Amino acid sequence: MNVTKNAKNIIDNCRFCWMCRHICPIGNATGQERNTARARSFAISMVERGSTELSEVVDNIYECTLCGACTNNCMTGFDPKVFVQETKTEIVLSGLAPDYILSLIEKYMQYGNVYGMEMPSELEALYSDGDDLLFLAGASASLRAPECVARALSLISSAGEKAAFTKIQDTGLQMWFLSGKTQETQNAARAFAEHANKYRKIVVYDPCDLAFIRHEYREWGIEISAELISFNEYLLSLIKCGKIKVIKGSTEYTLQDSYAYARELDDTESGRALINAAGVSREMLLIGKEANLAGHLIMAEYMPKVMRDVALGRWQNAINMGCKTLVTENPDEYLALKASCPDGYRVITVEEMLLENM
Ligand code: SF4
Ligand code: SF4
Repeated sequence: MNVTKNAKNIIDNCRFCWMCRHICPIGNATGQERNTARARSFAISMVERGSTELSEVVDNIYECTLCGACTNNCMTGFDPKVFVQETKTEIVLSGLAPDYILSLIEKYMQYGNVYGMEMPSELEALYSDGDDLLFLAGASASLRAPECVARALSLISSAGEKAAFTKIQDTGLQMWFLSGKTQETQNAARAFAEHANKYRKIVVYDPCDLAFIRHEYREWGIEISAELISFNEYLLSLIKCGKIKVIKGSTEYTLQDSYAYARELDDTESGRALINAAGVSREMLLIGKEANLAGHLIMAEYMPKVMRDVALGRWQNAINMGCKTLVTENPDEYLALKASCPDGYRVITVEEMLLENM
């Protein structure tokens, strides 16, 4: 199997500390030992040594969300996500991708997204252009949570800002998740960069897209000349300059930290600053850098029951700490938590929270 020296180093340097056994959201939902970075690195190591076939580990590779909780806790300081993504590329290029992944790739090739959907008409009606500020909702938010995107655009507009919103919402993130660094992924990334560089500044709604652009584009030599800013940072700047007037109330809000903000973008504070502008912050367990994932839209396409259990597990964390209103920072977790929301609790997005306190 072809893996880089870096990935091989990560695979071979596991110290068997088993920290990753306790914090993996998938492992905690399935109760299966194989859903850990340790077990996965052991499996890849066996493939490398010829003790087992690559086809035997395919399902296990696609059971990783890339949430990075193991990376954050790994005592070796290595990043187990690296060998997961490299193995996906090997799987796809060897023709070993399972049917449930192939069907998503086929939809991507036909529709430009893994959900096989056209842009919802309510968002098509909001298309606008310009050359200064671009609002990038991302493919998942645009297609699966259009109501959130419409609300975000309405909030931006009510602040007197003019942001372009176009049909180009694919950054390459979806193909990256399915196949790692393939030609198709890089082609999508280059196409997005060409579009994005017409603008001066890009507000990125989904932190997973922002993390992907910041980390992978740079590694692949894809230049983004526009200034990139997260949606949270953008909202905070609008509050600071008085364009969004929020009235601080007494409602308690609990941040569901997005792993992308907390671990990939090193930002555990912007979501909390937004909560503190609108109400009172009430924390639950496994927050900040230790954030526990609550949902993943692509994985919900092929392992819906496990992903529902992941969301229910996160609700249990909230219930245990008396947290009634969860505030999400990305569409994956918003939809997963909404679909499993217990009676008497609620989940809202950061922009929804601001809108109910204006
Ligand atoms: S990246 Fe997340 S889902 Fe994958 S093994 Fe690590 S903790 Fe588990
Ligand atoms: S946390 Fe890191 S070193 Fe420890 S068992 Fe998991 S992969 Fe190995």
